[in-house]
Amino acid sequence: MKTYNTVYRCRECGATSYQRVLERSANGSLQATGEYKCTGCRNVFASLRDWWQPRPPMDFQSSKISALEAGMR
Ligand SMILES: [Zn+2]
Repeated sequence: MKTYNTVYRCRECGATSYQRVLERSANGSLQATGEYKCTGCRNVFASLRDWWQPRPPMDFQSSKISALEAGMR
């Protein structure tokens, strides 16, 4: 399968190449699903941006605080 090299890196494993996810349609031809698969960790991402862009920070702070508050009650 063809791989693509980019200036970006996988946010999960740091690999610099990906493959387009292909799906065989009813008539037997391969079609890109619009998703991307990392060649390193094999994770599938809905878009290229999802592949390289770090995940938004988790809301650790608020969940920690509410857990502490719950413990105090
Ligand atoms: Zn990866």
